[in-house]
Amino acid sequence: MLFCKNKKTINYLEIHITDSCNLKCKNCSHFCYLVDELILINIDDFKKDVEELSKKININTIRLMGGEPLLHPQVNEFMYYTRLFFPNSIIKLVTNGLLLAAKKSDFWDCVKKYNIYIDLSYYSLYKKYIDEVKNILKMNNIEDRLWLVDQKIFFNLFNQYGTSNEEIAFKNCTRKICTNLWNHKLYICPECFRYYYNKKNKTNIDLPYGIDIYKMSSKKIYENLTKNKPLKACRYCKEIPVAQRWQMYK
Ligand code: SF4
Ligand code: SF4
Repeated sequence: MLFCKNKKTINYLEIHITDSCNLKCKNCSHFCYLVDELILINIDDFKKDVEELSKKININTIRLMGGEPLLHPQVNEFMYYTRLFFPNSIIKLVTNGLLLAAKKSDFWDCVKKYNIYIDLSYYSLYKKYIDEVKNILKMNNIEDRLWLVDQKIFFNLFNQYGTSNEEIAFKNCTRKICTNLWNHKLYICPECFRYYYNKKNKTNIDLPYGIDIYKMSSKKIYENLTKNKPLKACRYCKEIPVAQRWQMYK
């Protein structure tokens, strides 16, 4: 699929390849600490979704993530299809790195061949793994593909009571540009994963509206993503996000 002049371009997209994680960080913006089972995205659904998306929109940067994407046994195929349909995008695999050292050569071959960046979010407890990861990348001649993000601070954004002023919460929100593709729909922020909060707590808290990539035209998708207006769902985000030191649930 080639970069097409008639399509609009968005800057950024996050795609879960699993909703599950091997860490349980407090205030994870993707609510992964609430996902108890292993939820793996189906590779055929993913292929259809990225193909459809590639017909309708260009994307500068795509981050394949979760959860922890290395929990997915077909992670190589996810990298393959993303590169196939988005040959010109920057593609990153976002990982906490704990499973990287165990990856076999077929994984590293895909990273190299499909020009994927390893976007490593590291946490104070796990700094010791960084040198090991750097060595592995060096051995595979791809040391330039490492993107290190020190996750010292997490923002506590969620307000389960829904008492926030939508305008203020939206104005102060830094996640409204973190578009997510999930279950065939695009969301302007990762608050779609409140689904897991609702599931666990038997609540019905608003999610951001989902933009159906099959039913909407390229123009409509772009308009919906760039409305820049508060959503009903913003009531459930704090008006002023609270910065907190990274911590895990026991
Ligand atoms: S490692 Fe990342 S995805 Fe996993 S719980 Fe922590 S913040 Fe969420
Ligand atoms: S629901 Fe609104 S305030 Fe909350 S992250 Fe999404 S866009 Fe931001």
